[in-house]
Amino acid sequence: MARPTAVFFDVDFTLIHPGPRFQGTGYEATCARYGVTVDPARFDAAVTGAAPLLDSADQVYDAGLFVAFTSRIIQGMGGVGAGVEAAAREIYDDWAEHRHFSLYDDVPGALRRLHRDGIRLGLISNSHRCLASFESHFALDGLIAVTVSSSEHGFMKPHPRIFQVALDRMQVRAEEAVMVGDSVAHDVAGARLVGMRAILLARGGAPAPAGAEVDVIRSLDELTALLDREPVTPAARRRDGRRGRAGAHERRSGRRRPGC
Ligand SMILES: [Mg+2]
Repeated sequence: MARPTAVFFDVDFTLIHPGPRFQGTGYEATCARYGVTVDPARFDAAVTGAAPLLDSADQVYDAGLFVAFTSRIIQGMGGVGAGVEAAAREIYDDWAEHRHFSLYDDVPGALRRLHRDGIRLGLISNSHRCLASFESHFALDGLIAVTVSSSEHGFMKPHPRIFQVALDRMQVRAEEAVMVGDSVAHDVAGARLVGMRAILLARGGAPAPAGAEVDVIRSLDELTALLDREPVTPAARRRDGRRGRAGAHERRSGRRRPGC
């Protein structure tokens, strides 16, 4: 199949990851300044418990929603009292600072290879971090053609409008573009609503969600080769099933499927 004209990337946990400021010990230190005691060992479970708060939103960007999400994490770590919301507000505000984040090791090489091949690159993020300064902060100057953040645009992924705005700014059609991200609910589902191909990045050997029916890569080093192959789509999966050849497609292509 033809190479895409443009590849869009999610940002958080796709290109960059947060440092200790946004992990259990960082939360503990912030909360302590507001007189709130939390258990850093409960951080991961608290994040998982708070996550539905973001999924149940109406997809309009709302800082208050993220502060509430952060408050829920603090409460999940055992935090109580009047200082919880103030600590959550400080953590939310700091999430906007590039200096608290690091690039994944595979990002510079992958982005430079795509750019060298003439593929235009863009960012679509649900964050309120400044994407205009993303390139310079992470020494990726000249690689990113288009950025759209939900705080600037108004809608969050998976709302189709934020993807359409990114396509319009890049001046490409949906079928010429690919979205790469770590979230099935936000990146994969949203991209497909406007007709874009989606690729799920499941870093760290994390199991891909069962039934996601999407191409999965474990590292951006796998991206270039995947762009030359026919995409996995729910329609293709159903077609294979009707022909009684379920599984044959995967064996032919060697493509990894969620749950396999
Ligand atoms: Mg992400």
